[in-house]
Amino acid sequence: MSLNRFSGLRPLFGPSGHAESYAAEGHTSTADMPEWIAARGLDIFEYSFGRGVRVSSETARAIGAKCDEFGIEMSVHAPYFINFASPEPEKAANSVGYLLSSLKILRCFGGERCVFHPGAQGKESRDVAFARTKEAFAHALDLIGEEPEYKDLIVCPETMGKQAQIGTVEEVIELCRLGENVYPCVDFGHVNALYGGTLKRAEDFEVIVKKLFDGLGEQKTRNMHVHFSKIQYGAKGEIRHLTFADDIYGPDFEPFAEVIVKYGLTPHILSESAGTQAEDSAEMRDIWLRANGK
Ligand SMILES: [Zn+2]
Repeated sequence: MSLNRFSGLRPLFGPSGHAESYAAEGHTSTADMPEWIAARGLDIFEYSFGRGVRVSSETARAIGAKCDEFGIEMSVHAPYFINFASPEPEKAANSVGYLLSSLKILRCFGGERCVFHPGAQGKESRDVAFARTKEAFAHALDLIGEEPEYKDLIVCPETMGKQAQIGTVEEVIELCRLGENVYPCVDFGHVNALYGGTLKRAEDFEVIVKKLFDGLGEQKTRNMHVHFSKIQYGAKGEIRHLTFADDIYGPDFEPFAEVIVKYGLTPHILSESAGTQAEDSAEMRDIWLRANGK
């Protein structure tokens, strides 16, 4: 595996997906990405499968070799179609398939973490939809456990930004309690959007971090996966991803950087900004460096 040598020692920063500046500098292939990220003093890269796992094992191994060469750690984001809350057995089975095929390519990249969206509430009550999510995800974990080559991989249910989606902080904590290899992916932009802009002060972030420590303990909380970007929201939550140039919706990274320093957290932090992921992850790194130097 090509894991980052600073993993667990300090927070790691990097972009999710191809930043606009990457294309503007003439790059089209993900194989150039590890060198490009390393040259910017960043640590990690998240590859999103979005609408399907369409990368061959061969291509993924070639990218993984570049990760090794430049010390970059990759994670993957499973397809958005995953819905462990679905009452249709076929859709639930497909969800397991999407997760397993994501892990297969993650293994070829040499990475360790796979993020996924747990599901959608649909027409049922929250309790019924979440109970089904838990049951279907537990079944997926059993199947993952049967594959020796996936044994040391980590899956990360993400906190979601819309009311119709499964994935509050509390629900993600419950899902993470189903297995040792399940770590939280806290998307602070989503949390902020879901509750209409509640993340403003360091104390607001600290409440979430304390819930994670209480529910999941040291290891999973210190090394949680994080998505951090500013997100526009409305009455039902998330509308769209913005860049750090936004000063209306937030959240700002500074107060979270304070909490990272206070608790000595070492999360993997990905920027999902709209086009400026590389610039904004470098800005987060600099904000953390300043907070850490105080
Ligand atoms: Zn996501």
